[in-house]
Amino acid sequence: MSKPIKKQFETEVSQILKLVIHSLYSNQEIFLRELISNASDACDRLRFLALENEKLYEGDKELQINICFDESKKTITIRDNGIGMSEDEVVENIGTIAKSGTKQFLEALSGDNKKDAHLIGQFGVGFYSAFIVADKVTLTTRKAGDKKENGVVWVSDGATGYTITTTKLDKHGTEITIHLKDESKDFASQWRIQEIIKKYSDHITFPIKMQVEKPGEKEGESTIEDETINNTKALWAIAKKDIKDEEYKEFYKHLSRDFAEPLDWIHNKVEGKFEWTSLFYIPSKAPFDMWDRDHMHGIKLFVKRVFIMDDAKQILPRYLRFVKGLVDSDDLPLNVSREILQSNKIIDAISKASVKKILGWLDSIAKKDKKQYQTIWQEFGAVLKEGAVEDFANQEQIMGLYRFASTIDNKAEQNTSLDDYISKIDKKQDKIYYITADSFNTAKNSPHLEMMRTKNIPVLLMFDKVDEWMMSYLQEYKGKKLINVAKGELDLYNSKDKKDDKKDNKTDDKKTNLPILDKFKKALGDKVEGVIESKRLTSSPACLSFKTEQMALHMQQMMKQAGHAVPEQKPTLELNMEHNIIKRLIQEKDENKIKEWALLLLDQSVLSEGGQLEDPTGFVKRLNKMLVS
Ligand code: ADP
Ligand code: MG
Repeated sequence: MSKPIKKQFETEVSQILKLVIHSLYSNQEIFLRELISNASDACDRLRFLALENEKLYEGDKELQINICFDESKKTITIRDNGIGMSEDEVVENIGTIAKSGTKQFLEALSGDNKKDAHLIGQFGVGFYSAFIVADKVTLTTRKAGDKKENGVVWVSDGATGYTITTTKLDKHGTEITIHLKDESKDFASQWRIQEIIKKYSDHITFPIKMQVEKPGEKEGESTIEDETINNTKALWAIAKKDIKDEEYKEFYKHLSRDFAEPLDWIHNKVEGKFEWTSLFYIPSKAPFDMWDRDHMHGIKLFVKRVFIMDDAKQILPRYLRFVKGLVDSDDLPLNVSREILQSNKIIDAISKASVKKILGWLDSIAKKDKKQYQTIWQEFGAVLKEGAVEDFANQEQIMGLYRFASTIDNKAEQNTSLDDYISKIDKKQDKIYYITADSFNTAKNSPHLEMMRTKNIPVLLMFDKVDEWMMSYLQEYKGKKLINVAKGELDLYNSKDKKDDKKDNKTDDKKTNLPILDKFKKALGDKVEGVIESKRLTSSPACLSFKTEQMALHMQQMMKQAGHAVPEQKPTLELNMEHNIIKRLIQEKDENKIKEWALLLLDQSVLSEGGQLEDPTGFVKRLNKMLVS
């Protein structure tokens, strides 16, 4: 045995540990679920590697998990003959938290235990949950196939740090001994452990064995026997009707490492040319690393019940990365590799059908349970929005799942689908109008909506960061063109009031108004692309507009703030010729006054786009001057 080396936990680990202990205290028993889940993962991994190299089993092919306890010593021991860990792996996996998003996670914590418990749940803390009940944990492990001398003993009190020692271990795999705190000593009991395993780990496919005391033949005598506590049948291989909701939920927690319950799931056996089973879940909360496209544990792949890989990226497209679950194929070879998956017709078939299945499922939730769909949309809508752009084949169906705020109800809640929109408009309206902005309020109050409101044409209000990007790729939905009301020449649909339009357009006779437009342009110089009379406004004196291919102002400013180079895209200033200010300015002789007004109206228009002024002080001064004059 080597001399023990003492190590300190990283600050983040200490923080997480404290939190886990506090916030999960009301649900202590889950520590066993987590450790069994890890043991099961370790067996899965060994079985997979042993497909190519049977020696890794070291003659011990019956993968299993053993649990024993000692009431007097207040210990519980969980042993597996899975893959085990090398010294480096122990330090890396147990002593640090490599998960992306740990920092944001810690920052998001409020210090309020109740709220934080919920967050801890989303984050998933697995191994550390042992310290909810333990004041000391001993982990002994050796990697399968490694030299016997390369065993590792890791001991920690879960507070300050840990010691690590190398030692000779005959058996590969991992053994974890929990030294129970006094107040948790009741867990060292046969029925308690059995009960917890039944409750949380019944679906684990490896046998979880325990030495069980059985009454002997004579009275007062008893024998000790190894008994398998769990069912061991792969949950997804059981007929749907025989699986309870609770079982689906517990299985989800094992599969996804999420502590919270799933929102919904869909379990499906496909028969035909290829045969497979899929079980997909929608989590109840978006994980912290949802935006980190590389760190998703989405779909696990099994072949004939044997675990093959985590995070099988080929099965679902990235925009469905929030879906968790598994696919089990009967047709793929057991030695399938990531390379093979990349161009495999079976995987292609599974992927195509799975995407269809999931989109249809989301659609049916949207129809059946609006409230639940709102939750899904809130959590994952922004990810789904990548879909219409990236998955052209399913574009219309994906767009059908989108929800936006709109001027139909003027509420911030995103609850209007494109189909709802279409159902609310005049049959002859061949366009779907929308506006993008940096917030709901900016969108709702945008001067660009004035004419739309006057004409009673609904407008979708978009204010998610991805909207502007997404909409730049989308041309139409069910034959109706998608039109940004703040861009290009406002192209109102050809409807019955085509004639009205002409009549309304009292400003048709452009010539009479030309001088004021010229004067404005001269005053504003290259701050604007041009100055034109507006068809969009009814009550505001002025607004900005951009060309169809240009970025909206809020988007330009956001990109600049994020440090991106944004090509100069000047707005056009539009004037409302019917507005009293403009009418007065048409009569105005003082060029200087016109110039001041031009600058003021430009700044006002920037503000109503939610934009930032280049010279806020100048704006305030100018405004004050106007107010006293
Ligand atoms: P997660 O299971 O989500 O990865 P955990 O905190 O539960 O997080 O475990 C951390 C890591 O420690 C695991 O990913 C695995 O690499 C390693 N580990 C934990 N328990 C075992 C075990 N019984 N055998 C082998 N490795 C293990
Ligand atoms: Mg785990």
